Amino acid sequence: MNNFELKNPTKIIFGKDTIKQLESEIPADAKVLLLYGGGSIKKNGIYEQVKKALTKVEVVEFGGIPANPEYATLIEALQVIKEENITYLLAVGGGSVIDGTKFLSAAAVFEGETPWDILTKNIRTEVGMPFATVLTLPATGSEMNSGAVITRSETKEKLAMGGPGLFPVFSILDPQVISSIPQRQLANGLMDSFSHVLEQYMTYPVEGLLQDRFAESILQTIIEVAPKVLKDPTDYDAAANFMWSCTMALNGLIQKGVPGDWAIHAMGHELTALFGIDHARTLAVIAPSHYKYNFEAKKEKLAQYGERVWNITEGSIDDKAYAAIERTVAFFHELGIDTKLSDYTKEYEGTAEKIAQRFTDRGWLGLGEHQNLSPDKVEKIVKMAY
Ligand code: NAP
Ligand code: FE
Repeated sequence: MNNFELKNPTKIIFGKDTIKQLESEIPADAKVLLLYGGGSIKKNGIYEQVKKALTKVEVVEFGGIPANPEYATLIEALQVIKEENITYLLAVGGGSVIDGTKFLSAAAVFEGETPWDILTKNIRTEVGMPFATVLTLPATGSEMNSGAVITRSETKEKLAMGGPGLFPVFSILDPQVISSIPQRQLANGLMDSFSHVLEQYMTYPVEGLLQDRFAESILQTIIEVAPKVLKDPTDYDAAANFMWSCTMALNGLIQKGVPGDWAIHAMGHELTALFGIDHARTLAVIAPSHYKYNFEAKKEKLAQYGERVWNITEGSIDDKAYAAIERTVAFFHELGIDTKLSDYTKEYEGTAEKIAQRFTDRGWLGLGEHQNLSPDKVEKIVKMAY
């Protein structure tokens, strides 16, 4: 097992009617910028709950952060932070609003030339402006991790950032928020969280026995609750298990001591940047061909996953590994998610070459848990996903 350090400072406040606890968690002398997305919180009552809990502190609002948080919009919010002397950020939303808020936390204290450098020059944030979240959409785990992904439509780029200073101070997770989430976003949340676990689990060699079992238990829980959540998002117990699984899928725990792959996310981000496909759906497009292309290297782990998660017990290692990939694709389809790039766009010719070229230009010459997935392999995988 690899050496590791584990420190996750985010306080989680989980459960029914917990949004009102904002009142006691936000420092009384804070000047808060309340950040939100396209307005869903004004339709489902979350906005009222938040406002009611914030009567004792000074609050400025900034709405309109789009899905795949857009750099240009965030720069407008940064202006507000500076003009209004904001001292504390509160994200109320899903991964997009939370990631956008993380960028702002970093940008508010950044002293370099342009905040875009934080993304292109991989500048890690050691101490950002303090921020907290009220999660409205389980999916990304952003509520309990220190990473973010920011989009710049002008250049069709989508890049990741992070640093130990970008953990939320606290996050409020009330599973009741799930009742208003549309089917498409519920499916996305199930898909994204499932993929987060796979990216940290489907690696070799097998060394983290406990990490594997943590990961398998999260996968099994997502599989178990998926049909219940999709059928009835007001089912509180299903919603609570879904929400906690998403957080646990990407809060650092299962990644400690073991290698992470993350090549599926890297390729998927390009599909969102180029075509605007929902983040989760890009992962469903790339994952099957990634596992087929890297079959020889990953087959032991694929077979273990097939046996333990899907009860695939018949046949050789190869048989079980192959069946595991097929069963995973069937699961994505059960979520209502298409798994081919051509299902989303007819303009897919040339995409593989473009992505491989972008990775080469950025110096991303070896992705994956052993840094050996070169741009020419990326090109083949993306092509297999057409
Ligand atoms: P999202 O983009 O935050 O939200 C998707 C849609 O769901 C928005 O239209 C949003 O509306 C709506 N919505 C959210 N909560 C709702 C509710 N309770 N009721 C009704 N509608 C609701 O989706 P996401 O999947 O959470 O985030 C995706 C982003 O996170 C991508 O940019 C992805 O790359 C990134 N990501 C980050 C991490 C990380 O670790 N930081 C990991 C994976 C992915 P509003 O606009 O009105 O809010
Ligand atoms: Fe993701």
